[in-house]
Amino acid sequence: MSRVFDVLVLGLGGMGSAVTAHLAVRGQRVLGLEQFHSPHDQGSSHGHSRVIRQAYFEDPAYVPLLLRAYELWRELERETNRQLLTLTGGLMLGAPDSAVVAGSHRSARQHHLPHELLDAREIKRRFPQFQPEPDTVALYETNAGVIRPEAAVAAQLQLAAQRGATLQMEERVLSWQAAPGGVSVTTSRARYEAGQLVIAAGPWAKPVLAELELPFQVERQVQLWFEPDGRIEDFLPGRFPVWIWETRDGAHPYGVPALDDPGNGIKVAIHHGGASRFCTADTVEREISEAEIAAARAVIASRLPAVRGRCLRAVTCLYTNLPDGHFLIDRHPAHPEVLIVSPCSGHGFKFCPVIGEIAADLVAQDATRHPIQLFNLVRFAA
Ligand SMILES: Cc1cc2nc3c(=O)[nH]c(=O)nc-3n(C[C@H](O)[C@H](O)[C@H](O)COP(=O)(O)OP(=O)(O)OC[C@H]3O[C@@H](n4cnc5c(N)ncnc54)[C@H](O)[C@@H]3O)c2cc1C
Repeated sequence: MSRVFDVLVLGLGGMGSAVTAHLAVRGQRVLGLEQFHSPHDQGSSHGHSRVIRQAYFEDPAYVPLLLRAYELWRELERETNRQLLTLTGGLMLGAPDSAVVAGSHRSARQHHLPHELLDAREIKRRFPQFQPEPDTVALYETNAGVIRPEAAVAAQLQLAAQRGATLQMEERVLSWQAAPGGVSVTTSRARYEAGQLVIAAGPWAKPVLAELELPFQVERQVQLWFEPDGRIEDFLPGRFPVWIWETRDGAHPYGVPALDDPGNGIKVAIHHGGASRFCTADTVEREISEAEIAAARAVIASRLPAVRGRCLRAVTCLYTNLPDGHFLIDRHPAHPEVLIVSPCSGHGFKFCPVIGEIAADLVAQDATRHPIQLFNLVRFAA
């Protein structure tokens, strides 16, 4: 027997949990379906921290979404009584004309965001943990910080459940069908019907949307935690910011302070870095070799000598990239009852609640006040 809902949400990771919460808050009868037990460590939304920042080097068009996301993260904290967002300040480092520095500066100026520009001497004076080359500069913004992804997913699911959403864990969607006016999905346990379907499958989006042949590329990433070679006090929030460094050779190492339990050490990673990166979510190599850890340490240690300390933990995670580095949020071209929500390209987590709001707008009234032109499907038509 099938059960009827207003909306089905496929995937309860970062985005699907946000979408489900926002739909439930608006009174929609929503069913969220998740193949694992969310939050989990098989997709894109784990590893204890995600960088959040406002002076967005990727494109100033993201800034209004970010400002709304900050408001919604704080609302979610109040609603669920959890600490999700910690402001630590953020350093965007590189050459003056690097995308990270020049792009952050462009967004900061265009949207009048508080920021400072630091030269190498000032970087060293204020943050002696770093070793910038003489021509390295940085944009510093006090409003940058960290979101806790597992806690954030749990909070979004908690809110969704409190507002009446049905959440089904360990139930994989095997297929979906759409016809004018309705959708149905068949899972490992049952069949469900609804008016609309939201697909938030993260790194599984390609197989779930196979007929569209979208240019998704799943990329394996490695997150590393080091015991700092130095006093841990120098790496706690307040003394040590989140940071992203565009190096001359094109690497993008980044990191966050020792968050919550100093015994966990400091987290670092290399954006789009590492060997054997391209994979699928079901076949990714989860083991991390000593050689991979050594290679990452070699890139980072000349800039942040503290990573010469012991590696405490290493975990893989998956990006779902699109060729232009932006998100995909749009209706299925053949089935307007199906909304595709794929905001990753390695930088989506900070937007979760505003993506939830956008998806709920589109489901409920087929329009949103938020600027989402950058994320349409038609850009891949050529
Ligand atoms: C190492 C790393 C670092 C990152 N750093 C940052 C950062 O600093 N700042 C930032 O903003 N972003 C960052 N990101 C990006 C961000 O984490 C992602 O954009 C975000 O987590 C994507 O969420 P998602 O919901 O699309 O995917 P997921 O969270 O993976 O959710 C997809 C869900 O769908 C489920 N699913 C898929 N198929 C099915 C099916 N058939 N049936 C049922 N369930 C299904 C999956 O099990 C999964 O739970 C980072 C990502 C990684 C990997």
